[in-house]
Amino acid sequence: MGKRVVVVGGGVGGTIVANHLARKLGRELELGDLEITMISPDAQHFYQPGLLYVMFDLTRPEELSRSQASLLEPGIRLVQDWADHIDKDKGEVRTRAGQTFPYDFLLLATGSRPSPQLIPGLAEGGHLFYTLDGALKLREALFNFQGGKVVVTVGVPHKCPVAPLEVTFMLDAWFRQRGLRDKVELTYTYPIGRLHALEPVANWAVPQFAARDIHGETFFNLKEVDAKARQLTSIEGTTLPYDLLISVPPHQGAQVIIDSGVGDKGGWVPTGKHTLLMEGTDNVFVVGDTTNLPISKAGSTAHFEADVIADNLASRLQGYPGGRSYDGKVFCFVETGLEQATYVWFNFETPPNPVPPSQAIHWFKLAYNKAYWLTPKGVL
Ligand SMILES: Cc1cc2nc3c(=O)[nH]c(=O)nc-3n(C[C@H](O)[C@H](O)[C@H](O)COP(=O)(O)OP(=O)(O)OC[C@H]3O[C@@H](n4cnc5c(N)ncnc54)[C@H](O)[C@@H]3O)c2cc1C
Repeated sequence: MGKRVVVVGGGVGGTIVANHLARKLGRELELGDLEITMISPDAQHFYQPGLLYVMFDLTRPEELSRSQASLLEPGIRLVQDWADHIDKDKGEVRTRAGQTFPYDFLLLATGSRPSPQLIPGLAEGGHLFYTLDGALKLREALFNFQGGKVVVTVGVPHKCPVAPLEVTFMLDAWFRQRGLRDKVELTYTYPIGRLHALEPVANWAVPQFAARDIHGETFFNLKEVDAKARQLTSIEGTTLPYDLLISVPPHQGAQVIIDSGVGDKGGWVPTGKHTLLMEGTDNVFVVGDTTNLPISKAGSTAHFEADVIADNLASRLQGYPGGRSYDGKVFCFVETGLEQATYVWFNFETPPNPVPPSQAIHWFKLAYNKAYWLTPKGVL
């Protein structure tokens, strides 16, 4: 029997690893010396960063998804189901439909999920643009909005480190474009004593907020939302009224990680920061949002990690030790309005340093959004 690799989760990280591996070891796959099985519930692969544009009707939902099967290299078996239980002692994954998949190597790539239900009233009182359904509802609310208090409230941890800032800058520009900005009070709340977890980004954001008349409310850990009275209260005791509430709620890891006891209580898998191996194992790799690494949860993080994992996994399958090490690299474009953007890159050692925003960088971001489909294929 050939070696069996099971990939749980067909998002950006899981798909890149599976495709790279299939290309690196195409011959073994063809001869049956290697089996790659991907377990993923989604028939469609969804490009989440595109949601930022859906609420302003700058991107249509149908532009953001492609068939998962069409993105996979020949030879990769796609099992369209949820993984229900991961048993690392037995070395197998069970699916909701009751199938069992033994593995020699496992990749955990189940991502993260926004969890507004963790905060009383938030799901009822606030809009969420991190899901397609939420972004479509927000689009309707925005196009009917005539002015008032808009609050963008941020909980941690969350994926995409810069999306909350991006949406705030984009809202500012959008209200200006529609001639509504003088009727809108725009507030952004953040849980710690500055505007962003990454200090250089927080420092950079201060003059950006001042120039746009955006109010930053720091040390604001959301305790509850009163949807009827339309107000938010923080653990620190601050109360903010709102007419339109947009939230980036705290996230959790996948339920299967929690239920199988392979993660911490947030659902994040303890992971070696350079090896990307689940702690205490030698054959379970972890990619992307699923890790507990002290680094941003982002598609680019998953992408850089996936390159390292695929290389090391291919080596290990060929009987070599696997010599590549992840350095914590992250790269994110940051929209600073509707026609300007900057970017940040950083790693475990080097802090981010946003460059002056420009239209050219915004165009790069839009171009990448179109070219994204080459990323899960492992080409770009
Ligand atoms: C609005 C928004 C804007 C963003 N902007 C950016 C950006 O500009 N740049 C950037 O780098 N990142 C951005 N991100 C973040 C990026 O999309 C994620 O960090 C990235 O998708 C993480 O990749 P992943 O492979 O870890 O998880 P995902 O891509 O989320 O994939 C996880 C997969 O696991 C599957 N899964 C879950 N549970 C199970 C189970 N039990 N069994 C089987 N499969 C399961 C899910 O269905 C999903 O397909 C943005 C995200 C959002 C929402």
